[in-house]
Amino acid sequence: KTTVGRDVCLYFSKEMNQRSKTQLRMEGQLHRAIERGELFLEYQPVVDMSTGRISSFEALIRWRHPELGLVTPDNFIPMAENAGLIESIGDWVLENACRQLKAWQTRGHDHLSMAINLSPVQLRKAELAENIVSIVEQTGISPGSLTIEITESALIQNLDTAVSIIDRLSSVGIRVSLDDFGTGYSSLSYLKRFPIDIVKIDRSFLQDFPSHAHDTAIISAIIAMAHSLGLHVIAEGVETEEQLKVLQNLKCDEIQGYLFSRPISREQATALLSSPSNI
Ligand code: C2E
Ligand code: CA
Ligand code: CA
Ligand code: CA
Repeated sequence: KTTVGRDVCLYFSKEMNQRSKTQLRMEGQLHRAIERGELFLEYQPVVDMSTGRISSFEALIRWRHPELGLVTPDNFIPMAENAGLIESIGDWVLENACRQLKAWQTRGHDHLSMAINLSPVQLRKAELAENIVSIVEQTGISPGSLTIEITESALIQNLDTAVSIIDRLSSVGIRVSLDDFGTGYSSLSYLKRFPIDIVKIDRSFLQDFPSHAHDTAIISAIIAMAHSLGLHVIAEGVETEEQLKVLQNLKCDEIQGYLFSRPISREQATALLSSPSNI
């Protein structure tokens, strides 16, 4: 028994050691990823239901790892948060997304806007607000064409600092969107005390929708309440025509999802913006 215990113990510590080594190596690599140009953005279109045209893009980060290939954000953002790298990555995302938006606006897509995701860790530092405002000024986009996406739980976790940040952003005209809405525990009427402009219904509600009556009822209620509070509603993760129809009937303002387009490269996005279907 003792032998087994020791073996198990040895096995575990070896395993953990192995994992932390990999982890540390990845962290070091992530550190250099920005300088080496291994990070890049993809853009997923958000479509206005009333016009059928692209109203904005959501910038989504990716890492082209030299050995591992494409690494998705769920696999490195948490690491960046733990390793103290999320601020510099966040700044990199903001600068690049705003610069890209400026380029598209200059080419004639002047009403286009850009949405950027913020990590809950970034929302713990009040300086973030000034940082964002100065990036907007430097890139020359109008503040109203930038939307900051924060999750409901990130807002609640860091209430004081997060609220001071979104107050400041909102005061200069930057829009604030509540991401993954419906997965947290707060109510919309409570959140209305904060300067929020947009609600993004989490895609988990659309997974079995519209076949699940419950999900349809929840989505319907979120849209109705958001509208009564003067908020704009985006449904994300729209994959089927059937979902689109129901969302149209429920008067959802905008949709995002594989049905219209997956996240795409800058070049593909540029082409899509000028395609006949978008004019
Ligand atoms: P999110 O903000 O909820 O982004 C939406 C995710 O859903 C994206 O995954 C997108 O590719 C995916 N998606 C969009 N439409 C569909 C659909 O129709 N069906 C399905 N199954 N999925 C769809 P992605 O790009 O892997 O990003 C995952 C998460 O990583 C994001 O979730 C966001 O929380 C985070 N993230 C992405 N970029 C950044 C960034 O620049 N900074 C920070 N802090 N987080 C980021
Ligand atoms: Ca998002
Ligand atoms: Ca989301
Ligand atoms: Ca999410």
